[in-house]
Amino acid sequence: MRLGVIADDMTGATDVALMLTKSGMRVVQTIGAPGPDWAAPAADAVVIALKSRTIDPADAVSQSLAACRALTAGGASQILFKYCSTFDSTAKGNIGPVADALADALNAPLALVCPAFPEAGRTIFQGHLFVGADPLDESPMKDHPLTPMRDSSLVRLMAAQTQRKVGLIPFATVAKGADAVSAACAALIAEGCRYAVADAVTNDNLLTLGAAAAAHRLVTGGSGIALGLPANFPDTSARGDVRRFEAPSGRAAVLAGSCSTATRAQVAAAQAAGAPNRAIDVGALARGDLTAADLADWALSQSSHAAPLIYSTADPASVADAQKALGVGRAGELVEQTIADTAALLIEGGVRRLIVAGGETSGAVIQRLGVRALEIGPEIAPGVPWTKVIDGPPIAVALKSGNFGGPDFFARALVMLDARS
Ligand code: ADP
Repeated sequence: MRLGVIADDMTGATDVALMLTKSGMRVVQTIGAPGPDWAAPAADAVVIALKSRTIDPADAVSQSLAACRALTAGGASQILFKYCSTFDSTAKGNIGPVADALADALNAPLALVCPAFPEAGRTIFQGHLFVGADPLDESPMKDHPLTPMRDSSLVRLMAAQTQRKVGLIPFATVAKGADAVSAACAALIAEGCRYAVADAVTNDNLLTLGAAAAAHRLVTGGSGIALGLPANFPDTSARGDVRRFEAPSGRAAVLAGSCSTATRAQVAAAQAAGAPNRAIDVGALARGDLTAADLADWALSQSSHAAPLIYSTADPASVADAQKALGVGRAGELVEQTIADTAALLIEGGVRRLIVAGGETSGAVIQRLGVRALEIGPEIAPGVPWTKVIDGPPIAVALKSGNFGGPDFFARALVMLDARS
């Protein structure tokens, strides 16, 4: 392993893992803070997915330090601390406290702070973070329920979370290239700064920053900053390649527990295309008239060439009815657990390629299957790769957050694997 990444949430981890994969690295994502039995997987980059964005800062620090120790012990010479491209945090953290702890652990004299992700409209100019045309504090992020962002100055936002001095590398310097950025870093260190907020408006700027950070032990930022890091490890860039990704062969199935607009369109498209499909009746589940075993038996009795679709996906009125009858929490949990149990039975029955729609639903399935590590494969839709379980059952799995992907997502994902096998 050359590069270690600590991501503060699961979707962010997959996002940065995909970015590194597309830049030519072989990437493995592991789930949760490493315990004593954690062994570094064979990969150019390892991304550890934590859920530390809004937990108590002390817990975030200890989980991140455990991840850092595991990654450096596994051979990582550089650590990227990945947070959200809208710098989701509060004055208490957790970006500042985690970055401080990592910088100390790694003896890093200075770390870049760069959440820019121009492709998603997140740019930084004079240290101010923009979401599209709006400064961060005028974007919808100002009203986020957990991390409302009420300032756009990353220098001030970072300074509020750390005792250490925060400086700026302005656009005019970044535009001059990597040597100018390196000189600016040295000047900031001489001034006593430990963090350098770096402007970036384009992907070229991110490549410049990546090149300038070649010798940095710690880099912090969004998934955009990962764009320029693989080039610092030329021996990996040449050989890591998603073309090497091989999905296990075997039958496929689709489990949809999301009720988002995009997933509803995907379920409708699969039905229109003639895929065998079965709805989960939440009332029948609650009465015990329908079980995961019934659903799995139905799916396994379909032609092994078809990818059966089992879905709880429903319109808002049906969801509201189920929630009224059972309570929001109970309805969600019942559906999630049923889908997770169904997934386990399908795998026992020989399914080797699984698509799961829904963020929470995916979490429940991953937990039920005991998955601890994933190899990142080719991109199906922006932000959603095929993955292969490398610590857990021998399957390929695509975990799709509800609103991701176009209407043909399921078919597209399956065809993509067929074309490779
Ligand atoms: P998304 O990524 O779209 O937010 P999630 O899986 O994260 O999807 O969340 C969907 C939630 O809705 C889950 O807790 C799921 O169990 C629940 N759910 C799914 N279908 C139904 C339904 N028909 N009635 C009630 N709750 C449902």
